[in-house]
Amino acid sequence: MTKHYDVIVAGAGSMGMAAGYYLARQGVKVLLVDSYHPPHDQGSHYGETRIIRHAYGEGREYVPLALRSQELWNELEKKSHHKIFTQVGAIGFGHKNNAPFIDEAIASGKAYGLNVEHLTGEQLRERYQGLHVPDDYSGFFEPNSGILFSENCNQVYKELAIHHGAEVSFYNPITDIEAYEDFVKVISEKGIFTSDKLIISAGSWCGKLTEKVGLRLPLVPTRQPVAWFEANEDLFNSNVFPVFMVEVPSGDTRAIYYGFPTFNGCGVKVGRHDYINAIDPDTMNRKFGSEEEDQGHLREFLDQFMPQASGALKKGMICLYTRTPDGHFIIDKHPVHSHISIAAGFSGHGFKFASAVGEILSQLTLTGETEHDISIFKWNRPGLHKTVN
Ligand SMILES: Cc1cc2nc3c(=O)[nH]c(=O)nc-3n(C[C@H](O)[C@H](O)[C@H](O)COP(=O)(O)OP(=O)(O)OC[C@H]3O[C@@H](n4cnc5c(N)ncnc54)[C@H](O)[C@@H]3O)c2cc1C
Repeated sequence: MTKHYDVIVAGAGSMGMAAGYYLARQGVKVLLVDSYHPPHDQGSHYGETRIIRHAYGEGREYVPLALRSQELWNELEKKSHHKIFTQVGAIGFGHKNNAPFIDEAIASGKAYGLNVEHLTGEQLRERYQGLHVPDDYSGFFEPNSGILFSENCNQVYKELAIHHGAEVSFYNPITDIEAYEDFVKVISEKGIFTSDKLIISAGSWCGKLTEKVGLRLPLVPTRQPVAWFEANEDLFNSNVFPVFMVEVPSGDTRAIYYGFPTFNGCGVKVGRHDYINAIDPDTMNRKFGSEEEDQGHLREFLDQFMPQASGALKKGMICLYTRTPDGHFIIDKHPVHSHISIAAGFSGHGFKFASAVGEILSQLTLTGETEHDISIFKWNRPGLHKTVN
């Protein structure tokens, strides 16, 4: 007999697992379905750590969501025996006249009265002796930001969701979805389930699943290398060095690098945020080092700005972004089937918001509305070209 739920969550990664918890704790009968057993190394939430920053270079509209997310992460930490967040602070810097991302982060801090300290290149060098910042660069320090332990976050949401009665079906890829007027049928490798409401939160596979319900979204999954390098532990350990975002002029545009201090001897972790290598997540080459750029860009960046963190490669990984044309998320109800909510296109900067996105999805699913302002995430905004079949 087909089992029926109030809500099915299709994809229990960063966003879906959080939604599952916020629904289950309200007594909703929820099923979390995933192709793997989250947390896992096939999607976008692995690699141990994610940056949470409150002053926001991608747009000041994100600040209220970042602050709510931080509150929810702090709440989660209290319920958990796992480490969720460490407040190491964040720095950002870029060329004085050519760093719109850094400028917007500083402006967003001012607009929302955040604790953001403006620093010249010289002040950055004085404060962080491992940094080689040219005089024509400037930036900021934000003490309240830091590191989220992403796999722990997903693990804790899973444990709490199950504790509150959520059911899970893992190692179970969804192969088809049929949307009817007041219910959905979810066809998976392990069987068929039905529910009143559905959340599609399948990360880099979101485009494949939304097509099943007639919605073609302009989502581009990309292959993203990230690596850990041996570093001078005195200069770059997390007691003295924060997370970082650096905007560097590159041809007609700018490259953006991000990274983490070393803790427990793990090395400095660094990635390139603007690097685009479009792939199909089902066939992507997941071997770090199989492409020259995997390490090349990162090494160049470290040699220039943090040479004492450019030691031997300790480890590397390939992860997935799912990009939208304007870099903003898609969080919305399906335009025709309003009992389906979609959380997609997190464009490489979504994890920090997973807690608040989980809250938003639970509200959208239960009431059709959310108390959060999600207007920039609407599927029919001008910056997004899409078609409905
Ligand atoms: C290297 C790297 C560094 C990053 N750094 C940061 C950072 O510092 N700060 C930040 O905020 N963000 C960061 N991000 C981005 C952030 O991690 C992502 O935006 C976020 O994890 C996306 O969450 P998601 O739920 O959409 O995807 P996922 O967490 O990948 O979840 C999607 C889930 O759906 C499941 N699924 C897919 N298809 C199906 C199917 N057919 N049936 C069943 N299940 C399915 C998958 O198995 C997966 O578990 C980074 C990303 C990468 C790759």
